[in-house]
Amino acid sequence: MIEKGTLIIISGPSGSGKGTVVERLIDSMAYSLSISATTRRPRDYEKEGVHYFFKSVDEFKNMIENDELLEWAEFCGNYYGTPKEYVMGRLNEGKNVILEIEVLGASQVKEIFPEAVTVFLIPPDKEELKKRLIGRGTEDCETIEKRIKRASEEIELLPNYDYVVINDEVENAVERINCIVKASKFESRRYIEKIKDFK
Ligand code: 5GP
Repeated sequence: MIEKGTLIIISGPSGSGKGTVVERLIDSMAYSLSISATTRRPRDYEKEGVHYFFKSVDEFKNMIENDELLEWAEFCGNYYGTPKEYVMGRLNEGKNVILEIEVLGASQVKEIFPEAVTVFLIPPDKEELKKRLIGRGTEDCETIEKRIKRASEEIELLPNYDYVVINDEVENAVERINCIVKASKFESRRYIEKIKDFK
């Protein structure tokens, strides 16, 4: 029997550098990335099916009605959601799957999959967060303001996560997450079924 893969949820405020860290994790080939559906408009460099599946509000609502999403949430005026089929398929094949999602979606997934490993990524300090958010130049002023406000609300929920990783350097953050995933395979709660054979 194939052992199920691990579901890894990575959250963190806009400007925490999640995107780059997740890209590096995927490059290492040890993980599959779930591509989300969103109603947000694509940024210049974003490609359909690579960064997101871009949907109209009606299309997104249809996905909710047809039970195609594992979770969904509204973030700064747009909808985001995780297509269910891809995630379930990869986990059943024994692959480790990463969801890069915000805090409300993360808590929905943790309810369905209590064994999911949740990681909250933060920049070294608030100044760095602002600098990264403004510096990447992908959002207008109003959106940046919304995202900064949302960032402080999201950080309040940090204690709900299993682990916190400080993204001081991308390489460090990637290594820390790899260590967390390796260690999680040996959590005692994963052995409750197996030890029944020993009785
Ligand atoms: P962005 O617009 O910067 O790509 O993403 C905004 C926020 O939405 C980020 O915190 C990102 O992690 C989150 N997000 C991306 N995809 C999903 C998803 O499928 N579900 C949820 N709940 N959040 C998502």
